[in-house]
Amino acid sequence: MLISDYLLIFFKNNLLIIHNFCAIISGHLIKVGIEKTGGVVMGQEVDYSSKEEIKKVQLQKLNDLLMFVNQNNAFYSAKYLGIKFPLNSLAELENLPFSTKKEFVNDQDDFPPLGKNHSYPEENYIRYHQTSGTTGRPLKVLDTAESWDWLADCWVKVFRSVGVTKHDRLFLAFSFGPFIGFWTAYEGAKKVGALVIPGGGQTSLERLQSIITNKATVLVCTPSYALHMEEVAKEAGIDLSQTSIRITIHAGEPGASVPAVRDKIEQIWGAVCYDHSGMTEVGVVSYSCAAKTGLHCNESGYIVEVIDPDTLKPVANGEKGELVLTNLGRWGYPAIRYRTHDFVIKNETICSCGNPNILLPGGIIGRTDDMMIVRGVNIFPPSIEAILREFLELVEFRIVLYTIAGMDQVKVEVELSDYSENNQPQNNQTLDKMRKLLRERIGLRIEVELKASHSLPRFEMKARRTIDQRSSRETKNLGKSNLEAM
Ligand SMILES: [Zn+2]
Repeated sequence: MLISDYLLIFFKNNLLIIHNFCAIISGHLIKVGIEKTGGVVMGQEVDYSSKEEIKKVQLQKLNDLLMFVNQNNAFYSAKYLGIKFPLNSLAELENLPFSTKKEFVNDQDDFPPLGKNHSYPEENYIRYHQTSGTTGRPLKVLDTAESWDWLADCWVKVFRSVGVTKHDRLFLAFSFGPFIGFWTAYEGAKKVGALVIPGGGQTSLERLQSIITNKATVLVCTPSYALHMEEVAKEAGIDLSQTSIRITIHAGEPGASVPAVRDKIEQIWGAVCYDHSGMTEVGVVSYSCAAKTGLHCNESGYIVEVIDPDTLKPVANGEKGELVLTNLGRWGYPAIRYRTHDFVIKNETICSCGNPNILLPGGIIGRTDDMMIVRGVNIFPPSIEAILREFLELVEFRIVLYTIAGMDQVKVEVELSDYSENNQPQNNQTLDKMRKLLRERIGLRIEVELKASHSLPRFEMKARRTIDQRSSRETKNLGKSNLEAM
């Protein structure tokens, strides 16, 4: 990017040039300096009310939602038979039954095609999306104009937290099919006033060319895809760090909250990498901040609970548990006490950025249904990925579960950057180091196998890097992302 680009920004926003100047004298990449400035400036527009204020507003919104839903939504009014509303406190939310994806899917089976989780007449709905169905039947999710607008507002919080402004050009590397994915980002960008460049119906190379020729400044895609684009760029002789991308925003997988993955994306793109999470059933939930220590949940839009998935009771501060969400603004398709199956760490400490909205340290750290139990050891795919990504030569990987003589085994197949004969000694050393680190940190012997370049699958959305070939089970894909349902 040229210095003249920044002079243009200077004339539009005096604050930027001050931080830009700081970035130059500290020797950082200029485009990173600009981004950090944007994060601070825009961060002040995020919800910075107090915890007490958040709780007060939540109770009001929750009661408005519950009373409306109890009268207008057949799915929930059947669940709430005999329960008196309004609630006197947020603590009373714990007395309401949970909602699950299985219930939503069964409801659509029982009352096809759309089920009964709708609070308005069918003609009020204007958006249709569905989950991928890789782990079951797809769930159809409809939105009214009001619900859809609310989801777009949730994305505005994501954009503002990471410093996206109307001066940005967003490239959405996304197929724009019935999967909700970044459709809501598309709508949110309109509210921010940023230019959106859609990346549907294009090859990876065409997308790269579009990013370069259109001078896109923000890339929105899965973390896997941001890494995959480097492979494509290398083959085409393109240095991604020299593109105009200054911010990357990721969802679909937990990778962007894994420090090794985030660092690699930042190094490849010469940009600042942010995470975000959401689900089709509940919407656009969380966002990174400048501190980048985890994900803030948007508490003006969601009530957050963290429960023990076995006892279904709240976990203590600092403990790991399942994230349970109640969306407060999507009245057309409510999800109340919805069990996400995402594992997070409960945290009551205010983030160093000053935003009082709950911070989930490390973001989504795994999924209850992704957890693999091998020889009595609980393993989460993101833990393995975090170790492998520490190796800069890693290109792609896959986790394979299999059985030998009745005993469960796990191995990791990896592609490294140089598969040539000459590099075999170096590759063997890398494989040994990987085995050692996996053994030390996971507590299990995990074989690591080198695979030929381009032999493992690549993913645009929702990488599925775990396959289960154990003889006692049906062959199935396991490693669905935290946004499987997105
Ligand atoms: Zn923060």
